[in-house]
Amino acid sequence: VSAGPLSAVPLLDHHCHGVVQRNLTEEEFEGYATESDWGPAPGTKVLDSPFGVAMMRICGPVLDLHRLTSPEDYLGRRQELGWQEVTRRLLAASGTTEYLVETGFPAPAIASPGQMGQLSGHPARRVVRLETIAELVAPATSPAGFVADFEAELDRQLRDAVGVKTVAAYRCGLDLTERPPSDAEVERAAAGWLRTASQTSRYRIADPTLISRLVWCGVERRTVVQVHVGFGDADVRLDLADPSRLTPFLRATRTSGARIALLHCYPFVRQAGILAHLFPHVWFDVSCLSHYAGPSAPTLIRQAMETAPFGKLLYASDAYALAEQYLVSATLWRRGLGALLEEWVRDGWLAPGQADRYAAMIGAGNAQNLYRGDPR
Ligand SMILES: [Zn+2]
Repeated sequence: VSAGPLSAVPLLDHHCHGVVQRNLTEEEFEGYATESDWGPAPGTKVLDSPFGVAMMRICGPVLDLHRLTSPEDYLGRRQELGWQEVTRRLLAASGTTEYLVETGFPAPAIASPGQMGQLSGHPARRVVRLETIAELVAPATSPAGFVADFEAELDRQLRDAVGVKTVAAYRCGLDLTERPPSDAEVERAAAGWLRTASQTSRYRIADPTLISRLVWCGVERRTVVQVHVGFGDADVRLDLADPSRLTPFLRATRTSGARIALLHCYPFVRQAGILAHLFPHVWFDVSCLSHYAGPSAPTLIRQAMETAPFGKLLYASDAYALAEQYLVSATLWRRGLGALLEEWVRDGWLAPGQADRYAAMIGAGNAQNLYRGDPR
């Protein structure tokens, strides 16, 4: 599976995670090849999936295998080469020239932004997760002191980061408040959270008032606020993860100086496109599905190109743990966008030079604008 006409376009991957820096057993590999936490249903296999199909076709030849290889042969060859060589080959083949690595979901042996920079030979910068910072300060804070302690740690971490991310969609849903919750509201909510957390030693933050406060702290710093939307980890509140729920929050933050980047957006790609069309401070991507949709990823890229200005669409992989995900995302993105732009040129909508310009913008230029605009 070739990357098509856009094979040479540089990609700035504005949302991804690190690779696992060790060899994986078959079971571990399959665990990372799905968003589910619970293993496949009896009689089914994880790699009998859109991602599995795309992975074998795209990554097999990079590991010297036939493109119609089997999962067994693929995983065997992966072991034989070792994780370092596999990572080196797959990242290089992806043509990704910069990585923004979100570090809020640490796992054993996951590469840091610095390590991703070394493994890829390209710049890698950090994005910090608001909820993880709140959970970090929680054991040593008080209800009245929580916001100040959170902000001090956030500012410390932002010295070394290009933006923040919220996983509100995993915790309470996307009904973020139109204004920062008051100190009294936050103190009351924090008292309840910290009491339960200290009893159970489980500091997972999920209270909607507290989550809204964290996001508003990001807004007040006039940085890029990445918002997880739709499909994702098994703890997602999918019923509350439609980005149209953010409309009042987006109206309220339009002139704040913060920029909002909606991540993944599946199956709400069209809603995200409308929001990016309407609100000057909203950008979006179709990451994650760029590999999990496999051969169907071009359909989502087409939807993403329906209503939003082309300056608002970003490339990202949302790759996590497996180097395969970076290459599958990048290849399907290039193929999907390339086929669409070629069609528009053929049908007389675009001059070839215009198509090249849009490809360069969506591949990297839009993200460079978005993250360079950081006034901090
Ligand atoms: Zn992610």
